[in-house]
Amino acid sequence: MSHEWSAARRKRFRDRLREWYQRHQRPLPWRQTDDPYAIWVSEVMLQQTQVEAVIPYYHRFLSRFPDVHRLAEASLQEVLKVWEGLGYYARVRHLHQAARQLVRERNGQFPQSFEQWKRLPGVGDYIAAAVCSIAFSLPHAVVDGNVKRVLARLFACEDPVNQSRAVKRFQILAQELLDVHQPGLHNQAMMELGATICRPRQPACGRCPVQAFCQAFEEGRQETLPVRQPGKSVPEYAIAVGVVQRNGKVLITRRRPEGLLGGLWEFPGGKIQAGESPTQACQREILEEVGLQVRVDAPIARVRHAYSHFKVVLHVFRCTYLEGSVRLNGPVDYRWVALHELKDYPFPGANRKFIPRILEMASLSDKSSEDFG
Ligand code: SF4
Repeated sequence: MSHEWSAARRKRFRDRLREWYQRHQRPLPWRQTDDPYAIWVSEVMLQQTQVEAVIPYYHRFLSRFPDVHRLAEASLQEVLKVWEGLGYYARVRHLHQAARQLVRERNGQFPQSFEQWKRLPGVGDYIAAAVCSIAFSLPHAVVDGNVKRVLARLFACEDPVNQSRAVKRFQILAQELLDVHQPGLHNQAMMELGATICRPRQPACGRCPVQAFCQAFEEGRQETLPVRQPGKSVPEYAIAVGVVQRNGKVLITRRRPEGLLGGLWEFPGGKIQAGESPTQACQREILEEVGLQVRVDAPIARVRHAYSHFKVVLHVFRCTYLEGSVRLNGPVDYRWVALHELKDYPFPGANRKFIPRILEMASLSDKSSEDFG
């Protein structure tokens, strides 16, 4: 383990890593700034999301909300709309809440300590360490999936990387290796090494700047480390969804602000129960959720979507309003909107998969342009 490394060995490791990073790092947009706000936004986006997917969102988000004041002034819906498609929406709800808290309590000034950052909504050890080290050069080591993999291989550590009790151990290892004089650079170099060289499968050990320090390489175990605890199988739910038409408009509802996909808009629906057909479920769910009697007309699409802990299959139907007035049971808001207005609302990924089909059906329909099917 790293405490068994001499101080001289640790220094040689840091030097090799730093020299490699300075020559080979990818020119990512958030590496061209020292603005704590931009660094914070990038780190929030990068949690659970690949670099390539983040880049366009990062530019769009910063051009729309260039500083913490502009973010705090924006409505949650505006913020969700810019984030739409990036997933894990709790991240952006917390970012928005944190921006408001910073403006309210500190006139938009950023905290300059790890503990103060951690008091903000959505800021855990990773974000606090990343922002503090990169923006303020504070000596806190980051531990993300890439860093854990690199450490597990460097030290041939067999603690399962996906178990929470192993986090402490990896945190200690990372902190011992940290270059406290250039913590931001060191942290980014460790993550870059994991992302580009010490990859999950087929690590490029031949090009690795720290191969001479790597126990897994020495023992030929780089493909079998890190160890992962086998995960539970992911359940799949069948969901019925209704696109309810009335007078050329369709009904959308807003999810409650907290929890999965909180604050996003969607078409009403819910789980298909045992013994129920998708059309029966669609009718029942719409009655229960929004209090409307509808006729289920025809299928629009069948859509699969995966979330982190489960999958869904959406059976989407075109429905016609029959009677009743909207009474919400679950959603916190609703709108009857024309089809061309759907683009103004933030929807979850699963809904965005079938919205183009609705628009396509409308454009093929010889009824009014706002009708479809
Ligand atoms: S030698 Fe291979 S396994 Fe070891 S740190 Fe480098 S890339 Fe990873």
